Amino acid sequence: MTMFDEAKASLKEVQKVLGFSDEDFALLSTPRRELTVAVPVRRDDGSVEVLKGYRIQHNFSRGPGKGGVRYAPQVDVEEVRALSMLMTWKCALFNLPYGGAKGGIAFDPRDYSDAEIERITRRYTSEILPIIGPETDIPAPDVGTDSRTMAWMMDTYSQSIGYTVPGVVTGKPVSLGGSLGRDVATSYGVYLVTVNALKTKGIEPEQARVVVQGFGKVGRDAVRYCAEAGMTVVAVSDIYGAIYNADGIDYEALAAHVDETGTVVGLKGSEPLDPKKLFSLDVDVVIPAAVEGVITGENAADITAPIIVEGANGPTSADADVILADKGTMVVPDVLANGGGVLVSYYEWVQSRDNYFWEFDRVQEEQAKATAKVWQDVISFAAEHEVTLRQAAVGIAVERVLDAHNMRGLYPG
Ligand code: NAD
Repeated sequence: MTMFDEAKASLKEVQKVLGFSDEDFALLSTPRRELTVAVPVRRDDGSVEVLKGYRIQHNFSRGPGKGGVRYAPQVDVEEVRALSMLMTWKCALFNLPYGGAKGGIAFDPRDYSDAEIERITRRYTSEILPIIGPETDIPAPDVGTDSRTMAWMMDTYSQSIGYTVPGVVTGKPVSLGGSLGRDVATSYGVYLVTVNALKTKGIEPEQARVVVQGFGKVGRDAVRYCAEAGMTVVAVSDIYGAIYNADGIDYEALAAHVDETGTVVGLKGSEPLDPKKLFSLDVDVVIPAAVEGVITGENAADITAPIIVEGANGPTSADADVILADKGTMVVPDVLANGGGVLVSYYEWVQSRDNYFWEFDRVQEEQAKATAKVWQDVISFAAEHEVTLRQAAVGIAVERVLDAHNMRGLYPG
């Protein structure tokens, strides 16, 4: 199954709960607009290479498209479609006035210089320019992109329009109108729902043992927030390997080691760990915060942790979901667990449009309040309908999107 098949399978499950029509299913599972672009780039050696880029807008019923831009070798139309659909549900679940969108370019940024990545970003932005904008579709960072990438996108868009438009992207540097707290928002949200999940399972955070896959924009500060709250982070991995320390990995030492070497591997005081064994360790919480499709029908049965918090998008396959639900594992789904990123992106967009900027504490207070409300909504829906947290989260979102669609009516009738 492709990632888009997985996303549609998850929607099918929700159709059984909500009982909406097959016509509505067709409407919800078909992206509204898909753009494929060629991104020619002059390499530093003078040669020209043509990359493939995408921007897919899944749904606009509740507002403009919103979603990240991913730079990774495996990016293809199916992956971007799936991620754009996920963004529609995430924005609706957090009750943000957005639809869903996603973009990406198929290449590995580690093989390109900063100057080449800037040229790629600017050309890609100019190719998708007709369909993005602060009122139409607002990109943000994802895997392989960061605040620097957003600065180039914002500048390219603004140069073309003729004036500065900070609201065209979120996840910008704070010096260009980015929001305080946006850089850690996804990780902070992952941490907030981890605490809620532990409380629901009757485990004190100070007693909790945690593993985190990925030490990038999401995983790194998730490790920090969990450690600061007294949880014992016993294992962390990245693309190069995994490390283990039964007494807990020291966040500061790990962050300094990664800044110096570029990988978690080799941290003094830790043991090397086979990355395949990461999820089956005897812990309370597993946090996949790297890539999709890592918890599958093959390894789900080996997971003994009572809680999985999906920091990454789409880490759990549909067949793994069934195995985990049968075992009573609480899977906090991506749309809920990593929604802190788009929530604070929304705060950034509001600040950009108002030209009025919030203090860091206000951002995190608003985030914590909103996340607590969404958590309660999902728990209540799951209890009422006797469904998993994923079905509940997507169920709430789909109800809201369908309601918006029905209120607007089908154009032209
Ligand atoms: P990133 O590129 O900053 O970091 C990814 C991390 O995962 C790196 O440490 C990398 O080494 C590691 N990694 C990659 N492949 C791996 C593998 N096969 N095994 C183990 N580790 C691997 O990306 P990110 O922004 O942290 O995003 C991670 C996930 O979270 C993605 O699924 C993304 O869509 C999702 N997400 C990100 C945000 C955000 O605000 N950045 C928001 C919502 C969801």
